Parts: sequence; structure tokens; C-alpha cells
Amino acid sequence: MSKYAQVQPPADGEKITAGPGGKVETPDNPIIAFIEGDGIGPDIWRASQAVFDAAVKHCYGGKRRIAWMEVFAGEKANEKYGTYLPEETLEAIKDHLVAIKGPLTTPVGEGFRSLNVSLRQKLELFACVRPIRHFPGVPSPVKEPEKVKMVVFRENTEDVYAGFEVEEGQPETQKLIQYLQNEFGWNIRPDSGVGIKPISVTGSKRLIRAAINYALKHNYPTVTLAHKGNIQKFTEGAFRKWGYELVREEFSDVAVGWDDCNGQPGDKLLVKDVISDIFLQQVLTRPTEFDVIATMNLNGDYFSDALAAQVGGIGIAPGGNINYETGAAIFEATHGTAPKYANQDKVNPSSVLLSGVMMFDHLGWNEAAETIIQAMVKTFASKTVTYDFARLMTGATEVRCSEFGKAIIENMDA
Ligand code: NAP
Repeated sequence: MSKYAQVQPPADGEKITAGPGGKVETPDNPIIAFIEGDGIGPDIWRASQAVFDAAVKHCYGGKRRIAWMEVFAGEKANEKYGTYLPEETLEAIKDHLVAIKGPLTTPVGEGFRSLNVSLRQKLELFACVRPIRHFPGVPSPVKEPEKVKMVVFRENTEDVYAGFEVEEGQPETQKLIQYLQNEFGWNIRPDSGVGIKPISVTGSKRLIRAAINYALKHNYPTVTLAHKGNIQKFTEGAFRKWGYELVREEFSDVAVGWDDCNGQPGDKLLVKDVISDIFLQQVLTRPTEFDVIATMNLNGDYFSDALAAQVGGIGIAPGGNINYETGAAIFEATHGTAPKYANQDKVNPSSVLLSGVMMFDHLGWNEAAETIIQAMVKTFASKTVTYDFARLMTGATEVRCSEFGKAIIENMDA
């Protein structure tokens, strides 16, 4: 008997666990939770799930297999439970550690928080990780997209996303404005809404620690702390300061901060920093100078979409929300539900596919991750693409979402 009302953990699967330091231990038949998503979600999920299963079979024969477990959020959850984010979805993901999801609708309405933001905060998935790389043949608005190879680590739990905001004209807002006037001498116009931007030592250091560990593990030469600390000194400036402090405290044998080596790190990982506005110029003019980027929540949101545009846009941008201390993670498409294309088997499933690649890396199934990447490289090189890329390419063969998935599976064996 399932402990959940609607979720059915597969009897032939085992739970993924995590050892000390969040190191994930993956059985050969791991239970992985999935949320299909709204709008185009079911189409891209169906195509991607087939690719994931095929990659596992291709790499491990029958020795390994994913036991999929559907959990519900968004419109499907609302039909089943009468709520968009049921408690048992959070519980089932917490119990099973790893999940992957399609996009979810955020119904427009007063007081409705984004399901994605709620999932990340409730499960304390403190790092939003967005790798950005170019696949040969994928249309891009820049001249040399192949030079873009970066991974953004965006802090996921604080900053202006923490939800500490009060509305203009409300009595509590007047009270806060009055308090700030009386206690701090801050002159805020009475007809203002007010938001609070918390940036903590805890939140900053654990995010920067994860970024540095990732850079070391994947042999990236630099980590850049991107911030607007010249203006926001005690929040973004402090993030920078705590980053350099962390390098000295915990990584001095393998990494060094820019100021401590004059930009000459020898064979160590170089940790440097950049002001966020100039960063957005330099990623266009000098992309090879950036590898792993660690930044706060709002900056990270802007940076990751802007960078994704350089390599083909959100249809191909993957994401992972990870707690590196517990191993818990949700991998997700970074685009929305594109409702006008729902159930047309039309859109590009690459964002979920590449999120699956990140998931396999997290599980330690690197062969499956690499197999999907190589098959995608071959598929793009043959110009077999969905409508979004076909309209920007000459000589492309436009295929449906499911056909693109099938082409990738065929290219695994090619
Ligand atoms: P969107 O769903 O991302 O769609 C905007 C446009 O992006 C689409 O019209 C399409 O462009 C292109 N696009 C998106 N996904 C694509 C794919 N897989 N393949 C090819 N093209 C793709 O953004 P939106 O219309 O602003 O948002 C719709 C809903 O999604 C909202 O309810 C929003 O809250 C939600 N949302 C969810 C997430 C999430 O779950 N992570 C993220 C963002 C938004 P063309 O029209 O040019 O073909």
C-alpha cells in the first residue's frame, strides 16, 4: 500500500539515497519522480522519457533501469487534488530525492506564488544550475556561439525572490515606511511599495562553495562572482567579500582569489569577480573569459536567459535546482508551458532532454549523459530539428517533437 493518496511508487524500484556531504548513491533501479507539466509539458515529457530510457538501455543493457514515479503539480494536480501544489508531491520528492519536471503554468492572480519558486524554496534547493553550451548547427544570434561554455550557479532561496514585499497604500506598508523613517532616517515616499533583499553569509557561502566544487570537479579554470556590489554594498558587495573569504577558509590548497594572486593563479582554480552590468557586455565580447558564474537570485535569472539566447534560446536551455548538502534535486525545462502549442507534438524537447543529461550526471550515470549529448550533436548536425530551429536554418528537415526524440534514439546506435 502506498503511503500517498495518489502517488504510486513503483514496486520494482529502489530509493536513491545520499551519503555524507550530499553524495548521491544511486541503485541500479532508482525511483525518479517526474512531473509531466502543463501546456506543451506532456509532449516534451513523452519524447524525453523515451530518450532517457533508450540511453540507459544503450549504456547498461538490462543492468540498470529507471523506475519512473509520476507526481503531480499544476493543472493535473488541481484536477486530482483541488490544489496546484499538493503536500504529498513535496513529500514524495523529498522521500525519493531526485525529480525531473516539465514547465508549469503560474495562474495569474493575486497572491498566487509561482509553483517553481515554491518547489525550490520548500525543498531548500539552494542552487539553480544552468549550463550553457552551443551545439554545432544550432542557430544563434552571435558570430561565434561555440565560444560560449559557461555554467551559471544562481542562489535560489533569498534576494528579492524571498517574497518579503508589501504593497503600496496598505497599512502595514505605511507602518514599515514610518519605522524606517523613525529608526534609520530613511526617506521613502509614502506612495511606495517596499521589498526586502536579504543576502546571508549562509546562503552566499553554500552557493559559492557548490560553484567552486563544480568547477574543480569539471576542470573549469575560473569561477566568477557576478554582483552589483559597488551600489548594493551590504548585500551584493558582501556576497563578493564572503566568496573570497570562503576561498581562503576552505579552498586555499586548490583555489585562489584574484586579489591574493594578482590574477596569476598558477595551477589553482582562479576565483574572480565582475560587476553585473559589465558582465553582460563581456559575455558577448569576451565569452572565453568566463566559465562557472556564481551569483544571486535576480542577477542569475537575467544572466541565465541572456546567456541561453547566445546558444539557441530557451527551447534548448536546461536547468537543475540542487541542494548539494542533501543531494536533493529537481531538474527542469527552463521555458514555460507555451500554451498555444499544447498537444500539437510540435515544440523542441531539448530543454527537458538536457535537463535529463544533468540528472544523469547528478546520479553518476555519466555514460547515459554523454550518450544523449553525442546523439543530440549528430541530430543537430544532420539538420533534423523542430520548427523553432527549422525557421532559422537553411536546408533543415523539420520534424515533430516525438520524431526529434526518435531521431536522437536512432543516432545513439548510429
Ligand atoms: P513560454 O511558455 O516559455 O513561451 C514563450 C515562447 O517561447 C513560445 O511561444 C515559443 O516561441 C518559445 N518556446 C517555449 N518553449 C519552447 C519549446 N520547447 N520549443 C520551442 N519554442 C519554445 O513563455 P510564456 O508564454 O511567457 O509563459 C507561458 C506560461 O508558462 C505562463 O503560465 C508562465 O507562468 C509559465 N512559465 C513556466 C516556467 C516553468 O515552469 N519553468 C517558466 C516560464 C514560464 P514562438 O512563439 O516564437 O514559437
